Amino acid sequence: MSKRYLTAFGQVELSDDVLDTLSRYRQIKPSSSEAGGQLFASFDDHGMVILRATEPTAKSRRGRTFFWPSRYDEQKEIKALFAEGLHYVGDWHSHPELSPEPSLADIDKIQGIFGSSKHDLNCMVMLIVGTSEATDGIWFGSVSDEGVHRATQVE
Ligand SMILES: [Zn+2]
Repeated sequence: MSKRYLTAFGQVELSDDVLDTLSRYRQIKPSSSEAGGQLFASFDDHGMVILRATEPTAKSRRGRTFFWPSRYDEQKEIKALFAEGLHYVGDWHSHPELSPEPSLADIDKIQGIFGSSKHDLNCMVMLIVGTSEATDGIWFGSVSDEGVHRATQVE
């Protein structure tokens, strides 16, 4: 089932496909490494619909509590998916905790991306996947000039 969130900038939907991808990277085992990727969306009358979450690539470096994506692969993804009509809107990564919260480093990073990327968006999003399958197993929020704000799930 897709999930809908209300951000400070309107409604955002996470598609089934995105939720399936994220679910596969939950760090359930003690040996599971952190994972991450980029989020791509289209826009309709209701707001943003996130249709694709990209996955770690062979060039990413991963450990229990770190994930360093390949900048090269990220840029390739942005180009390829833009050709399919999908816009880069933010990043996701996993945390080995039940109900994840962004770290200060996470907040710095996404604010840096928001501040430096060339886009027409007045907000971007950040998503963290924890280990719980319950609602609070996903932290989802928006990033704008006003900072980072957690969104509320509406269904
Ligand atoms: Zn984090």
